[in-house]
Amino acid sequence: MDYELTNEQKGLQEDMAKFCQGEIAPRARLLDEGPKDKVGEIIRENLKKLTKVNYLGLGLDIHYGGKGLDLVSQCIAHEELAKACASTFLSAWSSAYMFGAMLNLFGADEQKDRYLPGVVKADIIGALAYTEPDAGVDIAGIKTIAEKKGDKWVINGTKDLVTNAPIADVFLVLAYTDKDAGSETGMALFIVDKDTKGLSIGSPIETMGLRGASIAGISLKDCEVSDDSILGGESGKGFDQLERILEIGRIGMATISIGIGMACMDKATQYAKDRRAFGRQIGKFQEIGFKLADMFTYNDLGRMLTYRAAWGFEQGEKEAGILASCAKLFASEATTNIANWALQVFAGHGYVKGTDIERLYRDARFCEIGGGTSEIQRSIIAKDVLDKFMS
Ligand SMILES: Cc1cc2nc3c(=O)[nH]c(=O)nc-3n(C[C@H](O)[C@H](O)[C@H](O)COP(=O)(O)OP(=O)(O)OC[C@H]3O[C@@H](n4cnc5c(N)ncnc54)[C@H](O)[C@@H]3O)c2cc1C
Repeated sequence: MDYELTNEQKGLQEDMAKFCQGEIAPRARLLDEGPKDKVGEIIRENLKKLTKVNYLGLGLDIHYGGKGLDLVSQCIAHEELAKACASTFLSAWSSAYMFGAMLNLFGADEQKDRYLPGVVKADIIGALAYTEPDAGVDIAGIKTIAEKKGDKWVINGTKDLVTNAPIADVFLVLAYTDKDAGSETGMALFIVDKDTKGLSIGSPIETMGLRGASIAGISLKDCEVSDDSILGGESGKGFDQLERILEIGRIGMATISIGIGMACMDKATQYAKDRRAFGRQIGKFQEIGFKLADMFTYNDLGRMLTYRAAWGFEQGEKEAGILASCAKLFASEATTNIANWALQVFAGHGYVKGTDIERLYRDARFCEIGGGTSEIQRSIIAKDVLDKFMS
């Protein structure tokens, strides 16, 4: 088994770390504290900055300006960005690795030609909208409906908690096209441009963490789109397409956890060296040193599981989806613990609003929710275990 990164991967890690710490990290607090009507502009600037390292194109087809890198290399880059600013990661992720990757995987050539070069250059910001006020993890429970009228589709429904909604140029919207057929064959993802009549964007939603990522609900009222707006051109495939991207996306959701975990580690370790009590560095007290040891162990295990799953996808392993659930589950819960321990190292000075550790603690809590909750990951893994061992 070879755990060594290739020279290219080491180079990518170095370049991303240098770039993200130099250009993205210094703005993380500004994004967290900035007024909601301003953060969209800052995020747009950050996405534009990321084009200097072609971050938005790392996983996309080279034909459209991407780099087409393998998933392990993508993980390396994601971790560095999430470590520098988790809000910027979430926004870039939603545009390039949710919206963009969907088009890359399932889009018709004209759809890719129209959007992907713009996504790679941050001239186009994409969003993926499937959650609704009354349907989150239960994707089949959505109420949004698209009805065929002549050569058009008319969409009605409401979407909630959509990352990038206030700044997005285009949305992928999940809707039923045939409710009687059920979710597996009765759904489609529609590409809906932001200025389409009938589409309106709600006010930015205030969130506990990841406050720099612009999030809002959207409403579709008799929203008319053409037949060729269906992702891949064929209705009935939306559920499978979404499930597939969410499955691979668990890798990305695991890397945001690891990135936040690393940032917590860096800050807590430095503080443990600098802060003194009873005439000694606090890191020299076993109680603090053991926290650092647990933080490192949890984060490294999360990373190993994540890279293992990413590698599995690259090899076409059947198990890769389950491994991605294991990675997402473990890394996200590890990060909740890591952020908690890191805050304890800072104690009262970490509890103060406006400190980095306070922001990281709030950001970390998202990881167990987004991209499939911990409960859903456990259900997926448990089903697989039962199928394997109880047949
Ligand atoms: C910062 C942020 C960004 C987001 N960005 C997007 C986005 O870009 N696009 C988008 O569409 N959505 C987005 N979401 C929404 C996110 O995908 C949902 O919050 C998530 O899927 C959970 O859905 P819910 O919040 O409605 O919880 P619910 O589905 O209401 O679940 C509530 C609780 O019940 C549990 N539960 C429900 N059913 C079961 C079951 N069968 N077994 C065990 N437990 C169960 C859940 O795990 C959870 O703990 C975002 C959310 C946040 C916080």
